[in-house]
Amino acid sequence: MKVFEKSSLLNEHLASLKKEGRSIGFVPTMGALHQGHMALIRIARERNDVVVCSIFVNPVQFNDPKDLERYPRTIERDTDLLENEGCDILFFPSEKEIYPDQPCEPGINLGMLDSVMEGSHRPGHFKGVATVVKRLFEIVKPDDAYFGLKDFQQVAVIREMVRQLKLDVNIVACPTIRESDGLAMSSRNTLLSDDERKLAPVVFKTLSQVKENILNLKISQLHDLVRKNIEEKGMSLEYFEIADETTLEPVVEIASGKTFVGCIAVRLGKVRLIDNIILNT
Ligand code: AMP
Repeated sequence: MKVFEKSSLLNEHLASLKKEGRSIGFVPTMGALHQGHMALIRIARERNDVVVCSIFVNPVQFNDPKDLERYPRTIERDTDLLENEGCDILFFPSEKEIYPDQPCEPGINLGMLDSVMEGSHRPGHFKGVATVVKRLFEIVKPDDAYFGLKDFQQVAVIREMVRQLKLDVNIVACPTIRESDGLAMSSRNTLLSDDERKLAPVVFKTLSQVKENILNLKISQLHDLVRKNIEEKGMSLEYFEIADETTLEPVVEIASGKTFVGCIAVRLGKVRLIDNIILNT
């Protein structure tokens, strides 16, 4: 695996590969890699000639400085994992390399996508995500870019940015990879204490209960069920929403024959867990 720290060198190298007609698959990450990330690398490897993974903990998408400080950084282990998975190129830039000047926001209007759920609880987060992803796309110029549905709203934001800026990249959304007890894999899971880790699967169990009861209970009853499950375990519910799968607009009534997404954010000690489930009615 080739490792690049300089954008210009990576850009030149990829340009020569593209000239040879090779397709580039790109997996942007913030490191502390786990099997969720590895699944994206595997899917990219199946579909593209060259797989590029970036590791960059993007300061402008953190609304909480303590979260940024605590974010796990495990570059040596990450490099080994990527190497074993057959990733071709790791891009591991410094902040100066990504933002030589001030971070430049992409000038798009995210509308509702930036004001519901994660957007309302993490002000500025999606602007920061769009900023770094646009910059990374400029450097890597991928044919395909792979994102996890674990961050459902993020996928919607990236697709909207690509649409508004008419970027020449295909966005591939990949399924959420879970631990055997259902907990969605996340870099932040390593920050959970042993006791917290034992409680964490309640989040996905609760979403699964919502799915089972989607046609038996009213929306307000589903909200009550979620709050009760989460709070009786001593966790704090930041939000639970049943939303339209495309616009992410909160749904007020469950119509049958539609597809919704149930999205949740929970605080467990110092860690914030997010997850979602597709709800077909
Ligand atoms: P992150 O390093 O957390 O920024 O994540 C990098 C990419 O991996 C994003 O597209 C995430 O949605 C994706 N990802 C993170 N966790 C998972 C998971 N458990 N399953 C699938 N994709 C994931």
